Amino acid sequence: MLKEIKGLHHITSMAKDAQENNDFFTRALGLRRVKKTVNFDAPDVYHLYYGDEVGTPGSVMTYFPFPHIAAGKPGTGEVGETLFAIPKGSIPFWRARFEKSGVAILGEEEVFGEKRLRIAGPDRDGFALVEVDNDHREGWLKSDIGAAEAIRGFHGATMRLKDDGATAELLGFMGYEKIDQKDDWTRFAIPGGNGADVIDLQALPSAERARQGAGSVHHIAFAVEDRAAQLEVRKALMDTGYQVTPVIDRNYFWAIYFRTPGGVLFEIATNEPGFDHDEDTAHLGEALKLPGQYEAYRAKIEEILTPIAD
Ligand code: ZN
Repeated sequence: MLKEIKGLHHITSMAKDAQENNDFFTRALGLRRVKKTVNFDAPDVYHLYYGDEVGTPGSVMTYFPFPHIAAGKPGTGEVGETLFAIPKGSIPFWRARFEKSGVAILGEEEVFGEKRLRIAGPDRDGFALVEVDNDHREGWLKSDIGAAEAIRGFHGATMRLKDDGATAELLGFMGYEKIDQKDDWTRFAIPGGNGADVIDLQALPSAERARQGAGSVHHIAFAVEDRAAQLEVRKALMDTGYQVTPVIDRNYFWAIYFRTPGGVLFEIATNEPGFDHDEDTAHLGEALKLPGQYEAYRAKIEEILTPIAD
């Protein structure tokens, strides 16, 4: 069993409209945009990162806005809801805020003893704000949301699976422990994690497979401290029979990817070097940052990308 994984690092999804996406995360949810860059595999598309002050692993929601993408169709083999941790007692604040700003509220419920407010993003993306006790992470406190309500980071994520057996086994191998079960839901948590600690699996044997599009999660990334830990995880996964990509430099972290038996794409990402290594912490996310290989094409890229108003 692996001991290197420390919870979630980031979750990456797809959107239709960059401006709408930016406004939802920075205004409605009050996160900080910590990086404005491009998709390293398709530099004519933005890659937007939102999180706490410095984009601490476990707080980072990222998006590829593809202007012409069709809407995703929810189903199995994908991340269902992204769970954000909010302080105990703050759901009424969030409900009132969302009612005022027109965010779609899907309902309020209690799952595994935690109150949650379920909402939809601009592309019907599934989110829940979950009241979590004793989450000592700070969140981003320079929006108009105070410390008694601000999002702390991820609580975790849910996955919809046709058969959850093999994914449960994989999570166990990755260091997660099964901590609860109710109906078709099983909850896993990582001991000693970064706060983004839970994964809830939902078994839906008769549901249809998801079709990815706007509003779908593209992949979910788990955090390891550094490159040495990442290589150990890579070797262990490959020894177990997983096909894992080589290490890829994503400028703000190093990444490896592998497809899991339930269909969800997993990434293992390093906490190093972080989002503040190429711009001043006070101005994170303001300028368009390009990786070295695209700097020569900056004028062309800036011409293609529609500017985002802050
Ligand atoms: Zn990623």
